[in-house]
Amino acid sequence: MRRVFVPLALLVTPLLSACAAQQVAEPGYAAPVSLPSGPPKLIVAISVDQYSADLFAQYRSHYRFGLARLQQGAVFPSGFQSHAATETCPGHSTLLTGDHPARTGIIANTWYEPGGPRGTKPIYCAEDDRNPDSTARNPVVSAYHLKVPTLGEYMKAADPRSRNVAVSAKDRAVMMMGGHTIDAAYWWKGAGFVTLAGRDLAPSAVAENAVVTTTLKTGAPALAAPAWCQSADHAVALGKKGNTGQFRFALPAVGSEANAPDFFRISPRMDGATVDLAERLVDEMGLGKGGAPDILSVSLSATDYIGHATGTEGVEMCIQMAELDKNIGRLLDHLDAAGIDYMVVLSADHGGLDTPERLDEQALPRAVRVDPALTPDALSKAVAAKTGIKVDGPLLLAEAVFGDFYVNRAVPAAQRPAVIQALVATVKANPQVAAVFTAEELAKTPMPTGNPQDWTLKDRARASFDPARSGDVVILLDRAIVPIPEPMPGAYIATHGSAWDYDRRVPMLFWRKGLPAFEQPQPVETVDIAPTLAAILGLTLPDGTFDGRCLDLDGGSGNTCAK
Ligand SMILES: [Zn+2]
Repeated sequence: MRRVFVPLALLVTPLLSACAAQQVAEPGYAAPVSLPSGPPKLIVAISVDQYSADLFAQYRSHYRFGLARLQQGAVFPSGFQSHAATETCPGHSTLLTGDHPARTGIIANTWYEPGGPRGTKPIYCAEDDRNPDSTARNPVVSAYHLKVPTLGEYMKAADPRSRNVAVSAKDRAVMMMGGHTIDAAYWWKGAGFVTLAGRDLAPSAVAENAVVTTTLKTGAPALAAPAWCQSADHAVALGKKGNTGQFRFALPAVGSEANAPDFFRISPRMDGATVDLAERLVDEMGLGKGGAPDILSVSLSATDYIGHATGTEGVEMCIQMAELDKNIGRLLDHLDAAGIDYMVVLSADHGGLDTPERLDEQALPRAVRVDPALTPDALSKAVAAKTGIKVDGPLLLAEAVFGDFYVNRAVPAAQRPAVIQALVATVKANPQVAAVFTAEELAKTPMPTGNPQDWTLKDRARASFDPARSGDVVILLDRAIVPIPEPMPGAYIATHGSAWDYDRRVPMLFWRKGLPAFEQPQPVETVDIAPTLAAILGLTLPDGTFDGRCLDLDGGSGNTCAK
């Protein structure tokens, strides 16, 4: 843990005026808008999982509720999850630490330590694998692998009265945004919210679970598609497996379908329940009303689940965009009604790409599914055939058809370079592969700086490379190669994870009552969020604490980054 110093300056924004914030009128010149004085009492950090800058651009004019309000603040439409491994866990690990995955240590959702006690079995990013009861598939949830503190932890170190609370459908989002020292942590498991081992559910979580249980039991009707969803409302065939594009999230009652909880999870209702629980925790814990600022992290996962199950350009995502707007609006209205002085940041863990079948129909015929020759199993066999090296079990350990590949340590050390060489040669010969890097190469590459839009593929891979955890080889697929060989309609047809900007670019929105509105279209980074909020809070941290930089949210001659 790096040291945290007690804040010296509490006032980080100039006191231009004591009067309340005014809405900017148009046309003509608006009266000067006063910046709120002093740090907010509550930071609300919202991650909309898989909310790409492309989705934001496509739907931003339709928002009427929470997402309309957040566009009245400081809008950065081109925030970058700058690294190559655009998965959930690395992405969430950047949001409130201010660091790239190379420094957070969260290089992927799942990795291997072939020379360690797990051997050929994977390690999950949000588990404590020292616990013998923990496995990657059924983890003892923990932030153990996160190598740096989160903003909530810096706040608690500065003033122990600060509360650090995180809620999501995903355990890894909670652990990465909350961190090691967390006052309340809730995520979805099976058919309700759960918490850390050894802790009891708070009454608010018990109450929310009761509501969810009733909904699951009775089912719920289809959700209406707004008129602006009409152009997205048509079926797209997914080979022989079925189709996508017209599902409206009707929730079958328990008993009528075996997987009713999944119909709930992969729907806007999952975000609704997450917001409900966040509101209950705000009330129960009195967040934003204590002696020091609190932080509430809310990761809304439904956009990601819906993107995976139905793609990003169908009526399903369109309905989700409308419901997301309402759910965020409801949360903000709740905080307003409670009279809390809060500041919101909204961003995403990564972006996403639509299903290739619809991309093909919609003017992007070069989008295709990945060549099955690139699966870890196929590559293991190809490399074994090429080198004549065989071991018990797979030659190569990997979780996906891209990213980190590890040589099984059953291969004698002297033979590993030959395996690596053969793997690199095999994948380089495949036209679907954009770049292949060895760990040795990436270790020698300096950490990239400057505009993330202009980073090379190697720079992007370097930003999510950790020599202690990354693979012996890192494989990056070409643009618009969807790394799902066979679509599973309603579950998994489209994804993210690439080094391309459709997966790297996400919106970054900051809003607080009275914060002047401005839009900065130039690229910024999600690692800039923590230093920006730290300055607003008046946290004094040593230089070099963050990979990111403070963004001045004043929008005028003042400077919210000034010490
Ligand atoms: Zn995802």
